[in-house]
This record gives sequence, C-alpha cells and structure tokens, in this order.
Amino acid sequence: MAPQLDGYFKQVDGMSGHFIERLRKAVAIPSVSADDERRPDVVRMGQFLADELRALGAEVEQRPLGKQPHKEHLDLPPVVIARYGNDKKKRTILVYGHYDVQPALMEDGWATKPFDLTVDEKGRMFGRGSTDDKGPVLGWLNSIEAHQKAGIDFPVNLLMCFEGMEEYGSEGLDDFINAEAKNYFADADAVCISDNYWLGTEKPCLTYGLRGCSYYSIEISGPGQDLHSGVFGGTAQEPMTDLVRVMSSLVDTDGKILIPGLSDLVAPLTDEEKSLYGDISFTMDNLYESLGSKTGIYDDKERTLMARWRYPSLSLHGVEGAFSAPGAKTVIPAKVIGKFSIRTVPNMEPTDVDELVYKYVEGVFASLKSKNTCKVSLQHAGKWWVASPRHWNFTAAGKAVEKVWGVKPDLTREGGSIPVTLTFEQATGKNVLLLPMGSSTDAAHSINEKLDKRNYIEGIKLLGAYLHYVAEEPMKEG
Ligand SMILES: [Zn+2]
Repeated sequence: MAPQLDGYFKQVDGMSGHFIERLRKAVAIPSVSADDERRPDVVRMGQFLADELRALGAEVEQRPLGKQPHKEHLDLPPVVIARYGNDKKKRTILVYGHYDVQPALMEDGWATKPFDLTVDEKGRMFGRGSTDDKGPVLGWLNSIEAHQKAGIDFPVNLLMCFEGMEEYGSEGLDDFINAEAKNYFADADAVCISDNYWLGTEKPCLTYGLRGCSYYSIEISGPGQDLHSGVFGGTAQEPMTDLVRVMSSLVDTDGKILIPGLSDLVAPLTDEEKSLYGDISFTMDNLYESLGSKTGIYDDKERTLMARWRYPSLSLHGVEGAFSAPGAKTVIPAKVIGKFSIRTVPNMEPTDVDELVYKYVEGVFASLKSKNTCKVSLQHAGKWWVASPRHWNFTAAGKAVEKVWGVKPDLTREGGSIPVTLTFEQATGKNVLLLPMGSSTDAAHSINEKLDKRNYIEGIKLLGAYLHYVAEEPMKEG
C-alpha cells in the first residue's frame, strides 16, 4: 500500500498548481442556490463538474429534480451523478458533495471579490465555496486525475452524487436518494461525505455524529388588532406577557431544559464514549475565541464538548410580531409568535419530543389562566445521526489520516445537522463517514470564506489515501 501512495502523493504535489486553477474556475461560477437570478449559474456549475468528470473518463448523468417547491417557475438544478470504474472485484464507495454556495456580496464585508479565488501570503485561498463545498468536491476529481497521471490503479469504483441545492435545504434530494439507493447507488459498500470541518486548525478529525433539530413556534393571540398601552394597558390581557412567561419556562440560564421527561430520552453516557473526549484537541480558549467572550456555561473541555455534541440544547430564537425596532413605541401586539428549537440527540425520537413539548407548553399556558389563545406547533424536524467510529469505513479513514497528517484523527461529533447524512444511511443501509477537508477557521457561510492551500492539497491526498485503505480494510462492522 505505502509504495503506491508515495507515488500518488508526489503526483498530487506536482499537480497542485493545476488543482488550484480548477478550484479557481469553480469558485468563479457564482452558483448561489438561494438566489433565483443565479439559477443559471448553479446549472452552469453542475455542467462544469459534469464536463470535468467526463474528461476524466467517468460516466456522468445530470438528473433533473423537477420544479422548485413554492417557486414553480424555477427548475431545480440537476443532481450530477457519476461512476468512475466498474470492476466487480473492487469495492464501491459512494461520495456526496454539493456544488452550490451561500450568497456572497462585497457589501457584506468581503475583503476580496468573493468569486475570484484570492491566495494570500499565508496560503489562504479566499473565495465563496472554496471550503464549502467546491474544494472537497474537486478533491475527488483531483484524486482521480492524479491516479491517472501517476499511472496508479484506482483502488475502488467511485460513485459520486453532487447536488446543487444544499444551501437551500437540499430540495428534492431525499426522494432522489431514496429512489436511487436500490438503483444507481445499489452497489455502494460505504458512503463518505466531505462537507464539514476540523474542530480546530491543526488536527484532522473524523465525524461520527450530528445532532438533530426540532423547531417550534408558540403563537399567542387575543385582541383583534394591535392596541395602544395608554388606552388599553391594564384593561386587556396581553399576548406578549403570556408568551414571555411561557418561553421563560423552557430553559434556564445554564442551558438546562425545563421540560419534564426530555432528559429521560437521552442515551446514557458509556465509559467507552466518555474515553473518546479526553484526547480531543480543543481548549476552553478555542471556545472563548469563537464565542468572542468568556460567557461559556461549563469550565471544562469535556463537559463543553458533550454539551455541544451529545446532549440536547434548547435555544430561544425570536418573537414574530413583537416590537423590535429602536425607540419606545407603546404598542401592545395583538398576536406574537415565539420561536425556539431543540437540538436533539440519541435516542430522542422526534415525535416523543413533540409530545413532551406540546404537553408542557400547553400546561404552562393553562397555569397562567389567561383568556388569550395559545397554539404550539412544530415548524420542521430533522433527526440526529450517529455512526460507529469502529466501523471499517472509519478505521480505514483513520489510517489515511495517519498516513497523510502523521497523527491519529480526533473522533468528533457536531452540534449542528447535515440532514443528507441520515438520508444516505437510511436509504443505502451503509455506514456513512464524514471526512472533512477544511478547518474551523474557514468561515463557511460567512464573509471571507477560505480554504488553506495546505488543507486542499493534503486533503486531496487524504481522499485518495482513504480510497486505498477502504479498498482493503477488513470489513468489520464495529
Ligand atoms: Zn456545505
């Protein structure tokens, strides 16, 4: 194994300029999925990928997903699916990425033009989509090309699924994956997604869990229209007063969720799981730096990471219909809608969570003995995901990280959601690995998004090395 990889790595280094040019071309296509006007650019980006893949000898299909829900004048951009290699003796690995990007405007505060890849003296490559997710997507293509140029046999059959609506809720993708799981993706042995980040900037990680999210609204109404407090204050029961009292009963200052029964749904912490936290490269200063303050709840690393990854949290997001502008308007809002969400973890079933939330909110409201009306409802729910980090897909990736970076990867989870992860797991029944390329400072979704040249080039090596190890790793389910 090692001899082939040395040749591959040398080839990647030799082609680094070419790979950066490929990224420059991709970043130059402003494939912003949230912006209707940019839809032709999103389609053009999918076409760019398809052309590059065909030039590398892959079989490519651009599958239409129909009209965009609620925007029937717009076609969804096609999913680009591709196959490289069809050797029955080799394993088949399915990889996913997305070719659309978040919006980006100079006015937002970018220091460089967001769609011109700009490399600074520290090797930071600034540009929208550089790290999320064009760099990683091109990583797979670059890996194929470097194998070809070095004359090294590609170790697996590679199935690729690249979508163009990820930053807009992956419209249409779930149905597509479910339909293709037994067709185009049928022979996949394992799945790999490169669309998340290292926990810090120096140590690579493999990610084996994500929290889910259940998002609720509490609507409280009473008066037929907004009222003036000088006229009606003291004479009418006020929806805003009720809402504040209900919302304040959901969570306390230390993040403790006050809904009875919710913590009973959480999987107990085992010693084995606990042992994964000690070595993780993370300090409280990392937290304070990203918070921009020292207002953390816990003083230690383990508890902080567990609170982010493996325990639920409840956040209050806002109140629709409330007076929120500067100044001192004396309005009594007639109807207010409070928004909050719960980040869910194993083994919380979303429907069980809903039931506890409804019962509790209705109970608290009833205890106020208000004449107003309260309606609590779910806006959307996405389930958590957790995989075994001892599965052969993960152990293979761990060896690839050690080979490329010279360290054992941290095994991490994330506090947020990547819903497609669970979709792939459920649809294919195969293990899904999250193998990030970029680091925590990449500012995906933010201004001045970047990917470090080092992470890109070593990342191309990593993706290729992973394919070599996963081709040979004994198939233990872990
Ligand atoms: Zn992404």
